[in-house]
Amino acid sequence: SAGPGCLPDVVLEEARENILDLNGTGIGILEHSHRGKTFMDVLEDTEARIRRVLSIPTDYSVLMLQGGATMQFAMVPLNLRGAGETADYFVTGLWAQKAAKEAALLGNMHVAASSEDRNFSYIPKQYNYSEKPAYVHYTSNNTVFGIQQREEPEIPVNSTLVCDASSDICSRPIDVSKYGLIYAGAQKNMGSAGVTIVIVRKDLLERAPKNLPLMMQYRVHAKDGSMHNTPPTFAIYLVGLVMKWVENQGGVDHFAKATPHKSGILYNFLDQSKLFRGLADVDSRSHMNVTFKTMNEEQDDKFCKEATAAGFDGLKGHRSAGGMRASVYNAFPVAGVEQLVQFMKEFERKNS
Ligand code: PMP
Repeated sequence: SAGPGCLPDVVLEEARENILDLNGTGIGILEHSHRGKTFMDVLEDTEARIRRVLSIPTDYSVLMLQGGATMQFAMVPLNLRGAGETADYFVTGLWAQKAAKEAALLGNMHVAASSEDRNFSYIPKQYNYSEKPAYVHYTSNNTVFGIQQREEPEIPVNSTLVCDASSDICSRPIDVSKYGLIYAGAQKNMGSAGVTIVIVRKDLLERAPKNLPLMMQYRVHAKDGSMHNTPPTFAIYLVGLVMKWVENQGGVDHFAKATPHKSGILYNFLDQSKLFRGLADVDSRSHMNVTFKTMNEEQDDKFCKEATAAGFDGLKGHRSAGGMRASVYNAFPVAGVEQLVQFMKEFERKNS
C-alpha cells in the first residue's frame, strides 16, 4: 500500500510482545505514562536512532509531532515565512500542490516550477524563483504519480530549502546540512501513522512570530522535547523499532541499493511489455511508487480485480493518476516484486 505501508515482521513481533509488557516492566507500551522513565527512555532511544540513521548534525532538532505531514503544510509557512515574504514551491504532485495551496492560504506563495501540464509525470528541470524567497519547498517523492526528485534543487543564496520527504525518507542517504527543514509522516518508511518527524535547523526555530498558537510553534516543541502535550507514544515507539531494523539492515546505504533493485525489476518489465506502460518519464521515476497502466481503463480494472483475487493488495492507482501503483517501500520484500512481475507477465500473455 502507498501508506500506511507494510512493516517488517520482526518489528511487528517485538511490538506485539511489548503491547503486553514493555521490557519486563509489567506494563504495556500503550499504558506507560509518557512522563515516566520507561517511556522517556523510548523517546530518547528513538531520537538517537533517527539521528544515526539519517546522520543528522547536532545543530538540528528532531521533533516528533502529530497532525500528519498535512499539518506541516501549514506549520512550515507559519514558522518560516516572515510578514510580507514570499515562499516558493515546486508543484510536482498532488501533495506538493496541497502544500502550495496551504501556503497560499496563509500568505504569498510563488510556484517556482510545476509539472502539472503533463499530469505530474516528470520532475521539471527549469525553475523560476521569486525575488527573495523565504524558503523553497519541494516534495522529494511524489507518492501519487510515482516521480522522485533525488537531487536537491539549487536554491537562491540566503534562502532555505524545505523538503516533504514523507514517502522516501530513509530510502537513501541525504545531506541534511543542505536543508533548513525536512518533514515526513512516518507511515511509509519509518513506522505507523500518528507521528510526523520534523528535522529543523536550530537557528530557524526562532523565526516564527511569538503569538502563533503554541502547538504550531517549532520552538515550543523543540524546547519541550516533543512533549508539549501527550505525544503519540505508541507511534514513536514503533519508529524506534523500525529505525533499529533499518540499522540492522545496514542503514540507509543498504536501502540506497535495495530500493532501485526492487523498483528496477518492475521498470525492466514495463519497458519491454507490450501491454503495460509506466506513467512516469524514465529520468523521473520513483524507486518507491511504481505507477503503470494497461491499454485502457477497463483492462486496468480487470487487472486490479484479478490481482486482488490472486492476493496482491493495494495496486489500484490513486484516482487522480489512474492505472496502478505498486508501492515498494523499504519493508516490502523483493519476493513480492518478483511475484507481481510474474503475475503481470501471465496477465499480458492472456490479454494481449
Ligand atoms: N506528503 C506526501 C508526499 C504524502 O505521500 C502524504 C500522504 N500520502 C502526505 C504528505 C500527507 O500525509 P498525512 O496523511 O500524514 O498528513
